[in-house]
Order: sequence, then C-alpha cells, then structure tokens
Amino acid sequence: MNISKFPRIRLAHLPTPLEPLKRLSAFLGGPDIWIKRDDCTGLSTGGNKTRKLEFLMAAALEEDADMVMTQGATQSNHARQTAAAAAKLGLDCHILLEDRTGYNHRDYKFNGNVLLDHLHGATMENRGSGLDMNAELENVAEEYRSKGRKVYSIPGGGSNPVGALGYANCALELLYQFSQTGLRVDHIVHATGSSGTQAGLITGLKAMNANIPLLGIGVRAPREKQEENVCSLAAKTADMLGCSGVVEPCDVVANTDYVGPGYGIPAPDTLEAIDLFAKLEGILLDPVYSAKGGAGLVDLIRKGHFKSGETVVFLHTGGAIGLAGYSHCFDIPK
Ligand SMILES: *Cc1c(COP(=O)(O)O)cnc(C)c1O
Repeated sequence: MNISKFPRIRLAHLPTPLEPLKRLSAFLGGPDIWIKRDDCTGLSTGGNKTRKLEFLMAAALEEDADMVMTQGATQSNHARQTAAAAAKLGLDCHILLEDRTGYNHRDYKFNGNVLLDHLHGATMENRGSGLDMNAELENVAEEYRSKGRKVYSIPGGGSNPVGALGYANCALELLYQFSQTGLRVDHIVHATGSSGTQAGLITGLKAMNANIPLLGIGVRAPREKQEENVCSLAAKTADMLGCSGVVEPCDVVANTDYVGPGYGIPAPDTLEAIDLFAKLEGILLDPVYSAKGGAGLVDLIRKGHFKSGETVVFLHTGGAIGLAGYSHCFDIPK
C-alpha cells in the first residue's frame, strides 16, 4: 500500500488529535474511551469528508475540471465540505440536496450546513426523497457538460475508491499515533453512512495487519446492505492500492441498531449521546451521524460488549454545525 503515489491536495489539519475521554469513561464504568478528533480537520468547521476531498479534489484538478458537483441530504456535511474545498481551489460547486427527512423547520432548511453551502458560493437544487440521487447527479452533470462545463462529479459522501484513500491514510495516522502514545487499542468505532470512511479504514488497517476490529454504527441502511456496500468499496480501494483481497467479508462489521426512526431523524438515545458528550467532555456530536455512533458506543458499553480493561477509540467524524439545523429537537429555556 503506497498512498503517496496518488495525487493529493492538502485541505485538512492533520494529524487530528487523539484524546482520552476521562469523564465519559468514568461515567460509563467500562473501557477506557479515547476519541480521534476528525471533527477537527479544519475545513469549514471540519469533518470526515475533508480527508476524502484531499484526493477527490486533486483528481478533479488533474482532469482540468472547472466545476465540481455532488449530492447529499439537506443538512449534508459532505456537500458543505465540498463547497468549501471548491471555494479554496477556485472551482464552481453545484449541489443536489435531497429532502430525506421531511422536516419543514426553517433552521433545517436554511441554517447549519445549508447556510455554509451558500456562504461558500455553491449553487443548489433540491430533490424530493426516494430518487436515485447519484443518477440524478449524473443527469445534471451531463446537462452542464453539454453547455461546455468541465464537471467533476463526486458521488454522495465522496464514497468511491479515490475518496476512500483518505481513510486508508487515516488508518496509517491512527496506528502511528497509537504507537507514539503507547496505546494498546482493542476496538475502533465510528458512524458509517455512504461507506467510504469504513471502507478506507478497514483497507488501511488490514493492509497494515493491525489486528484491531473496526465497528461501523449505521445511520441509514439495514445491516446486510451496509456491510455489502462497505465490502465492495473496500475491495475496490484495496485493488487501487495494490493490495487486492486484504479485506475479507468477516472484517466488515456494521451494527445498525441505532438508526432509530430513520436517516437524519434523531432517536432518544441519539439525543442522550449528544447530551453526554456535551456535558461530560465539552464535545459536540451531530444528530445525523456522530451521535448515532455515540449512542451505539454508549449502549454497547452498557451491555458489556466493550469491557473494562479494554481501550476503545471512537472516531469523531464531525458534523456539529448540523446542530444549528436541528434546533427543533432541543428544549431551550426561554
Ligand atoms: C458522512 C458522515 C459520516 C459517514 O461517513 P461515510 O464515509 O459516509 O460512511 C459520519 N459522520 C459524519 C458527521 C458525516 O458527515
């Protein structure tokens, strides 16, 4: 695996910090919990898409694109980070936003990530739910191409083999940090959605023979579908990296018990995870991804799945700016 042979543009503040969560660990009375702060990647309030965009935007420039196009849900963190990266590189950015939740709250539709998309100069169009959004994206990209634009289209979540390189690289960063910190890590846990994060991480971990189990907490798809998506993307990522076959199906584990009512709709345990991280650690989780991952982490500790004496690293994938779109979920005293 030699990641440095792929074109890359520096967009993220790396390495992101690896920190102990002392108060949360004491509160739960289980394993030692550490957090990998990919919420601190720096680009327009940060998040996990920035690592992927380092490779995706480099590929766009190699193709001489003058515009990037992508898609996501209304409060997409990926769309916002793509808009910011495009702004930094002087490319136009066009975004398709899917109404995946049916929320009609003003903040949901115009605040949080949507406000930032706008501030970064992206243009946007909306779509109802239930469409094949990557197909919609390709249709719109073709329209623009027929008008002479050089469009580089990025699939939802930046989840293709090029984007996943960012998380294969994060696996290297983690293993180096573990050895520098003298930390013996038993598990890594994170929220999994469009699959690029988990696919890249598992490819990097397996290629390095790390022997650390990785658990993705699902935010949308049922378990089988999620594991299938991660597996097939990991296989393509490994092919690209010249280590075909390093990831076996049994290495890809997703737990989708914390999706709750659906994508982008927080459940009571999602809100509890936000509360715990905020009040015990001063860390903000987001209601769509990281708090569903956090809810899984907390519940699996309570159930004894992760045990005292073990060390669990929670990868914080970012998204806290999305809280501004979810004011309707929180009781704020007037
Ligand atoms: C996109 C996203 C994820 C999921 O990552 P995938 O690579 O899409 O699986 C997790 N957390 C946050 C905050 C995200 O924006």
